[in-house]
Amino acid sequence: MDGTSDVIVVGAGVIGLSIAWRVAQRGLSVTVVDPAAGSGASWTAAGMLAPVTELHYEGRELLALNVESAARYPAFVADLAETTGMDVGYRRCGTVVAAWDAADLAALRDLHAFQVSLGVDSHLLTSRELRAQEPSLAAGLPGGLWAPGDHQVDNRLLHRALVRAATAAGAPLVSARVVGWRQAGERVTGVLTDDGRQFSAGTVVLAAGAWSGVTDGLPDPAVPPVRPVKGQTLRLRGPRELLGHVVRGSVRGNPVYVVPRADGSLVVGASSEEAGFDVRARTGAVFDLLRDAQTLVPGLSETEFVEVSTSVRPGSPDNAPLIGPSPLPGLLYATGHYRNGILLTPLTADLVTGLITGTGAVPPVCDPQRYAAEEART
Ligand SMILES: Cc1cc2nc3c(=O)[nH]c(=O)nc-3n(C[C@H](O)[C@H](O)[C@H](O)COP(=O)(O)OP(=O)(O)OC[C@H]3O[C@@H](n4cnc5c(N)ncnc54)[C@H](O)[C@@H]3O)c2cc1C
Repeated sequence: MDGTSDVIVVGAGVIGLSIAWRVAQRGLSVTVVDPAAGSGASWTAAGMLAPVTELHYEGRELLALNVESAARYPAFVADLAETTGMDVGYRRCGTVVAAWDAADLAALRDLHAFQVSLGVDSHLLTSRELRAQEPSLAAGLPGGLWAPGDHQVDNRLLHRALVRAATAAGAPLVSARVVGWRQAGERVTGVLTDDGRQFSAGTVVLAAGAWSGVTDGLPDPAVPPVRPVKGQTLRLRGPRELLGHVVRGSVRGNPVYVVPRADGSLVVGASSEEAGFDVRARTGAVFDLLRDAQTLVPGLSETEFVEVSTSVRPGSPDNAPLIGPSPLPGLLYATGHYRNGILLTPLTADLVTGLITGTGAVPPVCDPQRYAAEEART
């Protein structure tokens, strides 16, 4: 045996690392296994913490989960800063949503009515109010929405800080790919890696993002219903004063956003495609994003183009994450966070830590057993 610990975490994106950090803080020994930590969706993401403007029509339970995680962010990043000395760019900047035309505005009004029915803090803006809130927006936009509680974090800094925090808490990162699973009867007792090593643990947490459903050797009943949803973001560098808030919008029905970081960089996103694990940047997606973002914020044309980043979101059948027991004893899921994994990081870490230490339960909306219960009903 190459290592024995209380907990093994498979995957070192923000989800796996935050779990490793929190569990290790409780005095348990943790091993994190990942061949390429920071290469997944956690690196490509835009870092919006947007329970309100990401709310479409999914419903009250998922909204409550997202709102709860957003509320945990200030304490989470403060603890992280104390442990690592790193500022992860958590900015309480609010989000402006701009409509492009009358049809977009009508859709925004419907969404606003739905949000208000759920008790969410969001406000309709007239054309004039929209420009006053964010003067760099194009002239003549018909109106929009203001979500004062939707903020941002720099997800790349967050990832770096979590690597540091997990390591400092005594959760070493093993650079290898999980290619097999150790079992004693039904019970999962460890993992095998592509360099021939074996690790054992009382609990194994599957946090491999979009790859959670394709980790080699996972027995059939334990394969989670997670699929890859391709997405691209662009990084630009512009004048620091260009935007004061996250700007989102819909241009002729195409969603687009621009996230201004404190250092003057800007993240433009995001495409969404069902394209398997193909993470090559697609020219048409880059073109669409630049065209639509520049339509809303004309000043983007003068910024420096820095980077295209592509990855796959871990999608689930109902867009809610899978956090909790798998069908096999000894194996927990922390996956399927789809478009909100950065937002859901603090809450996921707390929920999984609660399960492992026997001090908490997970809400039904993210309990992986909900699909089995649903099947039994139909
Ligand atoms: C374009 C885009 C924009 C996004 N914007 C936002 C946003 O603004 N706000 C937000 O909240 N969320 C956003 N998301 C979603 C968010 O990025 C994800 O939900 C989140 O990063 C998932 O984190 P994770 O740790 O589960 O997965 P990942 O970050 O993908 O990490 C999974 C890790 O598992 C590892 N792995 C895979 N297979 C194995 C194996 N066999 N053995 C060991 N390790 C393995 C990989 O190497 C990888 O490091 C966005 C995503 C994309 C793609």
